[in-house]
Amino acid sequence: MTRCSKQIRQSLFALFALALIPSCDLTDSGEEAPFQEESVGESVPVEAGTVDFGDGPTDIIYEVIDGQAVLHDDMVLGPVDLVRSGQFVLADPNKEVEGPVKAAALRSLMAWPNGRVPYKIDTLMFPPGSPMFTKIMGAISEWNTKTIVKLVPAVGNQYHVNIGFGSGCRSNVGYLGEGANQNIWLSFNCSQGNIVHEIGHTVGFHHEQARVDREDFITIEEDNMQPNTEIYFQTYIERGRDGIDFGSYDINSVMQYASHAFSDNGKPTIVREGCDANALFVPPWCLIASQPHLSQKDQVAATRMVVGSSPDWVKFENDYSGQCLRPEGGSRTPGATVTTDRCTNSYSRYWTIVDNPHGDGELIVNRWSYLCLEKNPNGYGSPYQNTCTGNAAQTFDIEGTTGTRRNMIFKEDTNICLRQVPGQTTPVFTTRCTNTGSRRWLQ
Ligand SMILES: [Zn+2]
Repeated sequence: MTRCSKQIRQSLFALFALALIPSCDLTDSGEEAPFQEESVGESVPVEAGTVDFGDGPTDIIYEVIDGQAVLHDDMVLGPVDLVRSGQFVLADPNKEVEGPVKAAALRSLMAWPNGRVPYKIDTLMFPPGSPMFTKIMGAISEWNTKTIVKLVPAVGNQYHVNIGFGSGCRSNVGYLGEGANQNIWLSFNCSQGNIVHEIGHTVGFHHEQARVDREDFITIEEDNMQPNTEIYFQTYIERGRDGIDFGSYDINSVMQYASHAFSDNGKPTIVREGCDANALFVPPWCLIASQPHLSQKDQVAATRMVVGSSPDWVKFENDYSGQCLRPEGGSRTPGATVTTDRCTNSYSRYWTIVDNPHGDGELIVNRWSYLCLEKNPNGYGSPYQNTCTGNAAQTFDIEGTTGTRRNMIFKEDTNICLRQVPGQTTPVFTTRCTNTGSRRWLQ
C-alpha cells in the first residue's frame, strides 16, 4: 500500500471512529475523562494463545482490539495474526532480561537503552498546535522533567515508538527491541493524564493494581464489573506473568485504576482495603481517584527501570576518613542530606553510576533510595539525594573504574568536589577540587 492511500485510509478511519465516540466520555464539569472510561465495551473477543516472551512458549489470555492482541485493556502485545500463528516473539532472548517495575509487566520486556525513548508523532492526525499534539507534548514534558527517562524525537531510522491514532488509549509495554513495531495509540478523547499513563506502559510499567501485594491495600469487587472485564483486574501472577513489585504499593500512582473503572452498575470495582464496595454509602475516603500526574513513587520506579536489575553497585569510601557515602540516617526521602558513615554492607552505602539520559555526565544512584546525588544549590553546602531527573546539579564527571581513588567532580562546575571535612565524620561538603585525601573517594 502506498503511503498516500494508507494516510487516506487512516483519515477515513478517524472520521468513522469520531462519529462513534459518545460525547458522554467527557464529564459534565468539562474535565477530561479518566483513562479507564474509554472502555471498549462488552463485545471485545477474548482468546487464549501462546506467546514466546523470550524464554519459551507461555500460555496467555488476551483480547483482540483493532487487530492487536491486548492485555489489561490498554497494554498491546502485538499483531493478533502473529500471536495466533504462534510466531510472535516479544523480545530478543539474547538481550538482558529486565523485569518491569511498579507492578509487573512481562518478564522479558526490557528497559529502553540508556533510559532514552525515541518517538515519532503522527502529525497527520495530531498536527503541531492541535489540542492532541499539545496534550502529547505535555505528557512527554511531564516524564522528561520529573524522571530519569528522556523521550527524544527519533532521528532518521532510529528505533522508536510511534505515537499515532487508535480507537482508545493504548500502548505496548516496555522496550520491544530493534526490529519491532512499537506504538502508543491515542484517540481524540485521551487526556494528557491518559497519555502520561500510556507512556508509563511504554517505559515498562504495569498497572498498580496488578501487583501481587495489592490485597493489603485495595479490595477488588468482581460483582460490579462490566462483563468480560475481570481480566483487567488480574495480578500479573494470575495472568501467568513474571515481574516484581518495586517499592511499596502506591495508591497515587498514575498506573492505578480509579474506583469506578469498568463499573457495570455505578458501584466501585476497586476500593481501599477494609472498605465495602457494595455498601449503601461508600465514604469518599474509600474511593480511589485516577491521577493525571506521576507520583513520587512513579518517579523513583522510573529510575529503578532505567538502572536495571543488576548494575555494578559500589561504595564510595573516603580516602581520609575511611568512611562511606550514604543518605543521612539511611533515609529514602528526597532532600535528605548525603553524608558519611561506617562502611557497612547495608544497601544505603551502595551506589551505581549511570549515563545521564538527559545529556552529558553521569548520575549517581543510591541502592536503598533509588534517588540521585545532587549538589546543594548554595555553593559549598552539603549535597543531598533527590529524584533523578538528570538536571545539571545531578551530573558528575567520573571516569573511574573499581579500585580507583579520585575526586567526585560535579560536571556543572568542574572545580566543585565532594569532600569529607577532616576531623569530622559528617556531613560531606562540596568544595574546591584539590588532590587531598579528604577529596578522594575509593570505589
Ligand atoms: Zn494502562
